[in-house]
Amino acid sequence: MALSIKKRKTRDIVYADDLTIEWGDGVVAHYPFFYLRDVCPCATCVDEMSGEKVLDAKSIAANIHIRKADYVGNYALRIQWSDGHDTGIYSFRFLRDLFDLSLERGPEPGTPHVTES
Ligand SMILES: [Zn+2]
Repeated sequence: MALSIKKRKTRDIVYADDLTIEWGDGVVAHYPFFYLRDVCPCATCVDEMSGEKVLDAKSIAANIHIRKADYVGNYALRIQWSDGHDTGIYSFRFLRDLFDLSLERGPEPGTPHVTES
């Protein structure tokens, strides 16, 4: 699935109650912390060879949150979690795909969603 440039660009990123990204096409996406920690794409959480997830969601604290998030170039975010895990690099393409997929699947608690009105 090819993303338009606008969809891959970010206008604003906030991490307070969740990770909120305002995308270049005006869409505002909310990513619950627990969900994001659970889908961490790093080599510790996902087996590099098989692509299988090795992280056990049960090992994630319910109150997990982002301590710090830094841009990696202009294509990704490196997230430092409150549990000390900091090897996860979340590309904007990955993040936008997660959001678009979640919208396609329909509302499900704890998954990426738009701002609730
Ligand atoms: Zn990880």
